[in-house]
Amino acid sequence: MRYISTRHGSQGNPQPLGFEDVMLAGLARDGGLYLPAEWPQFSKAEIASLRGQPYGEVAYRVMRPFIGDAFDEATFRRLIGEAYASFETPEVAPVKPLGESGLHLLELFHGPTLAFKDVALQLLGRMLDHTLTARQQHATIVGATSGDTGSAAIEAVRDRRTIDIFMLFPHGRVSEVQRRQMTTVLAPNVHNVAIEGTFDDCQDLAKACFNDLAFRDRHALTAVNSINFARVMAQIVYYFWAAVKLGAPERPVAFTVPTGNFGNVYAGYAARQMGLPVSHFVVATNSNDILARFFEAGGMTMTDVVPTYSPSMDIQISSNFERLLFDLYGRDGKALADAMAGFRSRGTLKVGANALGGVRELFDAGRLDDEGTLKAIVDCRKRFGVTLDTHSAVGYAVAQQHRRDPKVPMVVLSTAHPAKFPDAVEKAVGERPALPPRLADLMERTERVDGLPNDVATLKSLIDERMAALRQPSRAARR
Ligand SMILES: *Cc1c(COP(=O)(O)O)cnc(C)c1O
Repeated sequence: MRYISTRHGSQGNPQPLGFEDVMLAGLARDGGLYLPAEWPQFSKAEIASLRGQPYGEVAYRVMRPFIGDAFDEATFRRLIGEAYASFETPEVAPVKPLGESGLHLLELFHGPTLAFKDVALQLLGRMLDHTLTARQQHATIVGATSGDTGSAAIEAVRDRRTIDIFMLFPHGRVSEVQRRQMTTVLAPNVHNVAIEGTFDDCQDLAKACFNDLAFRDRHALTAVNSINFARVMAQIVYYFWAAVKLGAPERPVAFTVPTGNFGNVYAGYAARQMGLPVSHFVVATNSNDILARFFEAGGMTMTDVVPTYSPSMDIQISSNFERLLFDLYGRDGKALADAMAGFRSRGTLKVGANALGGVRELFDAGRLDDEGTLKAIVDCRKRFGVTLDTHSAVGYAVAQQHRRDPKVPMVVLSTAHPAKFPDAVEKAVGERPALPPRLADLMERTERVDGLPNDVATLKSLIDERMAALRQPSRAARR
């Protein structure tokens, strides 16, 4: 399997890369995102044969075509097995019907940090470590988080000798549970950095590190945010997993995905490109609804981000959306690079009527504000006895507005445990959801974090200093 950038051809025509290089690079050097040159195809018989298999087996079969010769069969099976052994339930991602409504929840929050990010990152951390060990290399992850990605990434790479991780988060703007899930990890390779600024400032700082190519090469910088194709790959699995449980390939299934960076729903689109019969996707947003507006009108116009009860979806520029746009621009990397540059400078982007017609057949979209979110939590609890988190609640409500055919099962992706966003859930139902036992002492654990101003030079010095200290034998021996 070879991978190309969504902007290929915009800066010469670099050689397509293999899986390991794509995983280590994260973002392409031309600023684009990596994609397989073509999607592997699954026949009806192959899809049917997934039914009844354990999650790890489905994962192995769905991902095998993407990895080429990066890992041999035994190694890849072991990495998958270890990744999903860290989940609370052997099913990994249970599919639960909501009464007779035809709605089903796909629970993706049983991993160590209680959000769906664990599904991909638990595997990615292990794949990275394996490849770096084999190549005798070290990589430095620099990332920005508004909460969930940070803890999932830290949990995935803690205590690994091959990787150091610098995670930037906006000081005072993540929830206490989210912050503590990062700062209480005291492993020597974990560096939490609280930035005096917003999430966008953190993201700009991380980007500035990557755009300094000398700095990027000096530390072998790696990105594990959802632009990394390996994460998309690991998320494709649970679309196959849920669909075959509900009757695929004989019967189509619909999915509703609470959306921020468009990574999760894009993985569903990829599953469909691989042959999975999906009737349609529903893109569910909170009041930050740039994507909903796109699917309604064919254009994107940037506005300011407003904080909501579903902070992991408080995003205006959905980085993974570029992968869908690549198809809408006829897989023409140069035309897409021009369109993205225009979007950055003018804040608007439009696609033609033809392309839009195609996506409208496949995607519906809807939004839900904070008031609606609290009502949805109450409604689901009353009707079905299930307490949703705020992100899943957006999906639950929007899904019901977009059932095209009542006979087609509608799967709502449940992306976080309610205890991860306890304030809003308590506000809705009058009761604070409890953390699962393994996190029960989170509020008493010791924290470690560096505070920095919103300044790229200061950040780069911190990274330079830490990494220089790491290269000293005394420190290296301690790890
Ligand atoms: C990250 C996240 C989302 C959004 O996922 P995208 O892949 O960015 O669209 C939704 N819900 C929760 C709980 C998340 O952590």
